[in-house]
Order: sequence, then structure tokens, then C-alpha cells
Amino acid sequence: MENCIFCKIIRGEIPSRKVFEDDQILVIEDITPQAPLHLLFLSKKHLVNCLDLTAADDGLIGYIHRKAGEMARQKGYAESGFRLVQNNGAGAGQSVFHIHFHLLAGREFAWPPG
Ligand code: 5GP
Ligand code: ZN
Repeated sequence: MENCIFCKIIRGEIPSRKVFEDDQILVIEDITPQAPLHLLFLSKKHLVNCLDLTAADDGLIGYIHRKAGEMARQKGYAESGFRLVQNNGAGAGQSVFHIHFHLLAGREFAWPPG
């Protein structure tokens, strides 16, 4: 998508701190971290949020979930716990309308979230 900020990051038009990249996903550090570890798992395919998913995306979403767990373990947060969050719509806090998952770790997390 032409004017999507995450598509621009994926295309390298906006700089980011990359943690992992392959043909399906890009993992970057969040520019405004909300925890000691705050990574964003971006789908390389532009999808708005989970309302945009079709059955063709089932593998992609499962893959992101598995990679987030791997990353949390690799960063040392398997025991302490971590959050994997995906906001859908402005009313739920989505501010970038390109599907992404937040991996947050390294502090206490309240429930329910604000
Ligand atoms: P959302 O609010 O849509 O769930 O999450 C969007 C996230 O993207 C926010 O946590 C915000 O800090 C992050 N973000 C927005 N613009 C940029 C950017 O240009 N670079 C990076 N690395 N993160 C960004
Ligand atoms: Zn996009």
C-alpha cells in the first residue's frame, strides 16, 4: 500500500531497527516501547487487521504466533511471561492499519488491559 507506514518500513523507505526478517514477516523494535522488550511482528502482506484475514492467511498468522513465542524464549522471557497483543480498530487502540502483533516482555502486566 502506497501510504502505509508499515509497508514503507517493509520496503526500506522508512528506517527501522530490524530484529528478524524473512519472506513472510519483518520483526522490528517499536519506536515507542511500552516494556523493556517491545517488538512488532509485521506481516509483509498488507492486511488491515484480523477482519481482513481469509483462510489463505491462516498459515501466516500461525507462523507469526509461533515466531513470537520463539523470540520470547530466545530473549529470555519464557519463564517470566510475556504479552502478544494485536489491536483491531481505532476503538481498541489500533493506530497503524497494517496488521501487526506486539510482543511485550520484561515488566508486570495487569489484567484486564487498559
Ligand atoms: P497499534 O497502536 O496500531 O496497535 O500499534 C502501532 C505501533 O507502531 C505503536 O506501538 C507505535 O509505537 C508503533 N510505530 C508507529 N510508527 C512507527 C515507526 O515509524 N517505527 C516503529 N518502529 N514503530 C512505529
Ligand atoms: Zn501496509
